[in-house]
Amino acid sequence: MKECTILVTGGAGYIGSHTVIELLNNNCQVIIVDDLSNSNKKVLDRIEKITGVHPIFYPISICDKDALSLIFTTHKINAVIHFAAFKAVGESVQKPLDYYKNNVSGCLLLLQIMQEYSVKTIVFSSSATVYGQPKEVPVKENSKISPQSPYGFTKMMIEQILTDIYHADKSWNIAILRYFNPVGAHRSGLIGENPNGIPNNLMPYIAQVATGKLDYLQIFGNDYITKDGTGVRDYIHVVDLAIGHIKALKYFDFKSKVGQMITLNLGTGIGCSVLDVVKTFEKASGKSIPYKILPRRSGDVAEYYADATLAKQVLGFQTRFNLDDMCCDTWRWQINNPEGY
Ligand code: UDP
Repeated sequence: MKECTILVTGGAGYIGSHTVIELLNNNCQVIIVDDLSNSNKKVLDRIEKITGVHPIFYPISICDKDALSLIFTTHKINAVIHFAAFKAVGESVQKPLDYYKNNVSGCLLLLQIMQEYSVKTIVFSSSATVYGQPKEVPVKENSKISPQSPYGFTKMMIEQILTDIYHADKSWNIAILRYFNPVGAHRSGLIGENPNGIPNNLMPYIAQVATGKLDYLQIFGNDYITKDGTGVRDYIHVVDLAIGHIKALKYFDFKSKVGQMITLNLGTGIGCSVLDVVKTFEKASGKSIPYKILPRRSGDVAEYYADATLAKQVLGFQTRFNLDDMCCDTWRWQINNPEGY
């Protein structure tokens, strides 16, 4: 990985920034492209505080073809990790065109430019949301794909585009990584998830209840057929997830003319209920988390967690952090940065 230059789109975002740190820890040169639509420039100073390196940063959208091309002309890029995308499931239902334009068209432009400059290695940030309502758990990579929202469809479409590119030209290296539920924060407490407004996701919501910013957690349903009736998910520490991207890059042999394509789940393989997360967070923070039971949230699945064996076999990927670590690290980030960046 030494002397590799990696372009990270969306590198100022939650998963992107944690991945940038792991790339810098592996002595890569990092170039961040981020339009700051859902991130904050201050993250760059935090990255520097943690690693001693201020990454090269271009505040542009991946939809700006000329600006993006110029980056490929200016730098000798070896590979791209592509995070830049809109990611709110509910919003995607309200604004499908924005999602298809930014996520799908933006990615198409990026891929065209990569082809033009013969940069043929990409790690793509996909999501377990492509599985929709899984027929059985744990969910394997060859399970049926059936997204339930425009957001999920954007991920599915890009997966298809990448598959077709690889079929047409086997010199591409393509890793599609399907994330389960990323949570937690860097151990330093300097970077973490920074949602705009009231969080949609469970962990940042609980963190704001713990600080008193929000009054109580709304638990969406306790009548699912799960161990305690609440929804079960596979929560993965964002630093473990970031390391998965490094392992995917290391898997590719940059010197070979023959490429490879892999599609892998990144999860722990362990399902945790909403109440498990509440209890573990209470222990980590020493705060009580009041909650009320509400009806089920529309579109929610009772239970899903990864079959994590393929990523282990192919990449040697194994998560290091458990739910206690995820809650402790989220809490540290939250109390150090009550208003975000
Ligand atoms: N959840 C909840 N209250 C919240 C947010 C989420 O009870 O305020 C539940 C949700 O129903 C699901 C789990 O927590 O069972 C994880 O939800 P999240 O939105 O974090 O992830 P996703 O549903 O996308 O897997």
